[in-house]
This record gives sequence, structure tokens and C-alpha cells, in this order.
Amino acid sequence: MPQNPEKIQDHVELFHQPEYKQLFENKKQFENGHEAEEVTRVAEWTKGWDYREKNFAREALTVNPAKACQPLGAIFAAVGFEGTLPFVQGAQGCVAYFRAHLTRHYKEPFSTVSSSMTEDAAVFGGLQNMIDGLANSYQLYKPKMIAVCTTCMAEVIGDDLQSFINNAKEAGSVPKDFPVPYAHTPSFVGSHITGYDNMMKGILSNVTAGQKKETSNGKINFIPGFDTYVGNNREIKRIASLFGFDYTILADNSDYLDSPNTGEFDMYPGGTKLEDAADSINAKATIALQAHSTIKTREYIEKEWKQPTSVSRPWGIKGTDEFLMKLSELSGIPIPQELEIERGRAVDAMTDSHSWLHGKRFAIYGEPDLVYCVVGFMLEMGAEPVHILVHNSNEIFEAEMKELLASSPFGQHATVWPGKDLWHMRSLLFTEPVDLLIGNSYGKYLWRDTKTPLVRIGYPIIDRHHLHRYTTIGYQGIINLLNWTVNTLFEEIDRNTNIPSKTDISYDLIR
Ligand code: SF4
Repeated sequence: MPQNPEKIQDHVELFHQPEYKQLFENKKQFENGHEAEEVTRVAEWTKGWDYREKNFAREALTVNPAKACQPLGAIFAAVGFEGTLPFVQGAQGCVAYFRAHLTRHYKEPFSTVSSSMTEDAAVFGGLQNMIDGLANSYQLYKPKMIAVCTTCMAEVIGDDLQSFINNAKEAGSVPKDFPVPYAHTPSFVGSHITGYDNMMKGILSNVTAGQKKETSNGKINFIPGFDTYVGNNREIKRIASLFGFDYTILADNSDYLDSPNTGEFDMYPGGTKLEDAADSINAKATIALQAHSTIKTREYIEKEWKQPTSVSRPWGIKGTDEFLMKLSELSGIPIPQELEIERGRAVDAMTDSHSWLHGKRFAIYGEPDLVYCVVGFMLEMGAEPVHILVHNSNEIFEAEMKELLASSPFGQHATVWPGKDLWHMRSLLFTEPVDLLIGNSYGKYLWRDTKTPLVRIGYPIIDRHHLHRYTTIGYQGIINLLNWTVNTLFEEIDRNTNIPSKTDISYDLIR
């Protein structure tokens, strides 16, 4: 049915019109599915322990993965550098997915090119795609650097990026001295955080080649990791400015992922200057703000740059205290009084909300660093983790998480579920219910099924606006985390106590 241009209906209204309802009904009949009663019976069965055991016996099938694939993390890392165009050696479809995924989260354009490999490249290799693709990208989009990674297809057929890039330079696709760092990012191993790590190492080794000097430049490098909160890079810059030391963020994609609308399109907003990135090899130290997305990069910096590295995750009071003390130790500057005052405000806010979060049972899923940090914060609030699910887990994460849980009386009843997906989480929530679920937008379906209130923290958040603009780190971050968690609880309490004269005994105005 044609839309009335005076009153365009969005899909929420449109698909409730009779003709669409009829269309859905016809589709159901065409699909020849089971009767509604049978669907309900099976759906009920999937909520019990019997099904949970079968679900957890699953070995060769993933349902609703709680992770993304390597190239997505690689292109996320690349856009943090000034004028950098990510280039994916692989098929169009993969790249369309990465771009759409990131654009849906940030509501920003995400420019990434694909070498558009098709069947012939799958048989004969993708060298010609690389030669043509680099030439077109260089001529059309005028980047300062092109960062190349791969999809599964290029990895399966064994495309050798170093030799392909050399060949493309020989063929004149880009000038010989034009920076084309690369990372092999096979998605059948690791996840988006591995891709981030591989690309960060690839870019840093490219731009710092031959830049080592006798003396240090006195700066501190920060590597944010696969951190999708643009407010966090800005918070790092604010904290460093309050201290007053010189620093470099490797790499700062906050302007790229949250660019101002000036009426003119800028393909490469912001980013770490390439000359600063090149000079990062001469810094006095590097601090990674995530551990698991920076493993290879830190190893490389320690070994090749001979530069000390450390991991500091400034979430919650303890994490932020440790981070600021580390900055003070490295810079020789005392912690600024303004930050001490902020600490006091954060502690005050925690005290205000403490009685509501204390003893609340929660489930959480996401990347290892994010989950570690949020669990640490929630333990500080006296909340009790029950299900901790990390699809892209590893042994180091499991050990550090167990240590964190053992350090708190509130962490005693938690189970860590490595390598599990969101369909596993569904079984956990039905069989051992909790008060709160913490995770990305994909938890929406778990919320609908299990009625567990969802606190949206993580990546992607595609069904709510602007959450990615906030900070989650530092003392300011604590206020945001409190806001999201405790107010979700209040909304749930209100929803459950809003029937006058029946359930409204605690329908309180003041909390
Ligand atoms: S898993 Fe492989 S095939 Fe799938 S989108 Fe990622 S790179 Fe492409």
C-alpha cells in the first residue's frame, strides 16, 4: 500500500496494517510451521533444566555469539590514526557488515573499502584486487595511510599481504614511501579484540620503523583497546591535561566516531597525528587500558621498542585509584586536587545508591576486559555476580576473574562461563534467575524472553541512542555506571508495583 506523504508511518505502525498482517499470515501458512500449541509447548520446555543440560552439551554450533570477527576490530583500530583509510582484502559482504555494525552503534559514517574479491579471486588469489584496490583508494579518497586487513576468504586461500603490498607498490598503485601497514585477521580464530590487537601492532610497527632516538621524548602513551565509549578517550585527555604531562593516545578514534555536524563531510575527522604515532617509540612508557585486546601490541612494544608497558583499567574506585597513582608515579606529578574532589563525589554517589544495588544478583556478558571491569565495579557496590559469560575468553581472563571474585565476599556465588553464547545465557537466566542482566543490545531478546531487566553496557548498543558518548572510566565514569544500573532497577520496581490498591505499596516517589 502506498504511504501517505503527509503522514509517513514508521515500521512500528506500518506492519500492523491489515494488508501486512495478512501477508505475515500467508507467509506462516506457506512455511507450513508447527501449530501454535506445539510452539508454546517447546518454548516452555526450553526454559527448564532438562533443556539447559542439552543446550550446554552443544559443541559444534553457536547460537547468538557474544563476539564479532577480527576485521571489525582491525578497522576500528585503524580509524584512530589521522587520515587513515581501512582497506579489507576480501569480499564486499563482510565489509558491508563491519561498516553497518559500527555505523548502527555510532550513528556515524564509517569509511572502509573492500577489495571486492569474488569467485575468480578465490581461485587465482587476490593480488590483482590488491593492486587495483590500493590504486583506486589512493586516487579517490586521498588518505595519508591505508591500513590493510583480511577476511576469512583471503586467509583461506593464503593471500600474503606483505608481498601483495610490495607488488602493488612496484605496480605504482601507491608511492613507494606511502604507509600501508597491514594485519592478517583470520576470523576463524580469535575475535574482534584479536583483530584490534593485530592491527594496532601492524600500524605501530610500520609508522615507528627507523624512528627510535637516543633519548626519550618524556611522553606517556595510552592504548585504549577495543573501547567503544568515545567519552573514555576524552576522559583520558582531560585527566592527562589536569596532570599537565605530555601524552599520545594510540589511537584516538573519538572524533572519527563522534564527529560534529558542520554541514561539510570530512572523511577523516581527528585521529592521532602520524608524526605523534611515529614518535611514540620514544615515549617513557605505554599504558594499555585493556589487557586482552593489547596482548601482542604490548609484547611488541616491550621487545622491539624496549619500552616498559603496563595495564591499568580505570573502572570503579579501585581501578581509577590505581590508574591515577600510576600516572603520578610515571610523571612525578602529584594527583591533582580536582581529581581528589571528583573521587569524593563518586564515593558520595556510590553511597547514595549502595543500599539498592547491595545484594542484587546480576548476570553479565561481553568482552573480557569490559566484563572484568564492570564486575569489579559491581562488587564495589555489593552486588553479586551469578553468571559471567565471555564468549571470547582465554585462560588469563579466567584466572584473573576468579582472583577478583575470590577477593570479595560478594563474588562467592559466581560461575564463569567461557566460550558460551547468548543462547546459553538464556538457559542460565531461566533456570537461575537474577535481578539484572548487563550487556549489549542483543540482550534485548533475553530481556523479552526472561523478563530480566537489561542494563545496556558494551558493544554494540544499537537500540538506544547516545550511550556510547558517555565515559565509563575514571570517577566520572562511576556516576554514569551508577545511573544506568540503579535507575534500571528503579524502573523495574516501578513497573512491578504500579497497580493501585494492589501492588503499589512500594510505588514510592522518593528513592
Ligand atoms: S567471520 Fe569471516 S566471512 Fe564472516 S564476516 Fe567475518 S571475515 Fe567475513
